[in-house]
Amino acid sequence: MDKNLDDKLFLLDISTNIFLLLDKDGLIHYANIRCSHVLSRSCLEGKYLSDFMPEKEASEFIKETGKALKNGTMDSFNLSFKSRDYIASIYPKGEFVAVCLWDITDNQNLSEQLKKKTRQLDIAEKKIQEVEEQNKAKSYFLAQASHDLRQPMQALKIFISTLSEEELPERQQLLVEKINASADNLYTMLDNLLDISKIESGGMPYHPRYFNLDDLVKTLNQEFSEIARSKKIDYCYIPCHKEVFGDPLFIERIIRNLISNAFKYTKNKIVLGCCPEHDFLKIIVIDNGDGISEEEQKKIFEQFYQCRQKYECKKSGAGLGLFIVKKLTELMNTKIEVESEPGKGSCFYFSIPYKKEAP
Ligand code: ADP
Repeated sequence: MDKNLDDKLFLLDISTNIFLLLDKDGLIHYANIRCSHVLSRSCLEGKYLSDFMPEKEASEFIKETGKALKNGTMDSFNLSFKSRDYIASIYPKGEFVAVCLWDITDNQNLSEQLKKKTRQLDIAEKKIQEVEEQNKAKSYFLAQASHDLRQPMQALKIFISTLSEEELPERQQLLVEKINASADNLYTMLDNLLDISKIESGGMPYHPRYFNLDDLVKTLNQEFSEIARSKKIDYCYIPCHKEVFGDPLFIERIIRNLISNAFKYTKNKIVLGCCPEHDFLKIIVIDNGDGISEEEQKKIFEQFYQCRQKYECKKSGAGLGLFIVKKLTELMNTKIEVESEPGKGSCFYFSIPYKKEAP
């Protein structure tokens, strides 16, 4: 055998594919080592394919190779024997046909596994979609019913306020004050829950525009200065004289929640201010209260999260205020951040675009 041919046959021998050279009757003229290995026979040359293959597979093989020989064109077909699956590629040349068998069993197993995993993923995705839709439907219902749910609460507040104007014995006056405080808490919680439903059902569309921040805070200040006086807290707003860009309803809600918290947790001082930073105006709420540990700072923006110790002594809220703040700032494409040290107070801030020239 010349050296060139020897090298070529060597290459066929080390291949992991099966190579065969057959004539039209299925007589083997060449078989590589891999073929001998799969058929568990050495010296296959001069033998017939049907001597080693089950009758059905051998006759199919001969039928396909015969067809290729007759047409003189390359062809391929699928074949299974000895629990393995192959793609057979046939190359006719004169009276002979060269056959290459490519074992695709492992690929098929892999593709089966892949298909199975894809099916599982499809099912999981469908389940998530169903839950999301149910959640949306629930939020939509709550958002739609929000007016009806708020009305009895508002009526209750009016009745309590009328009752507190009556001249009542001291003990009853005290009870009215307690009822009033509980009604306030209930109202805040209901308000928070309804806001979350609105945000999650997409019922709180974002309508940004330029507006004067001082004007917005003026309304909030009337309310908060009153609370500050009654609680003997030093509350101050440092006017910024700036036109900011955002949805006034969103920004009012965010500032309201941050200041309400500051009132709950401060010792005796709260500052609301802002400071320009590049193209943005940073709105800041500072208090000198309990502060928040580094570990808890990571959790306070989660739904229903309350720092345990503080909850025990303040016993109000439901851990939704900061979650709403987070959701609203996300909708506004900004981020709420906190800096705090236990015992020294907290500083919450977020940034929004503003007009650099004064209004
Ligand atoms: P809550 O209704 O309990 O106030 P929030 O979502 O508004 O719920 O706040 C979550 C938790 O973060 C609160 O329970 C409180 O422990 C902590 N927290 C929020 N604001 C402050 C603050 N200014 N100072 C100290 N702790 C705060």
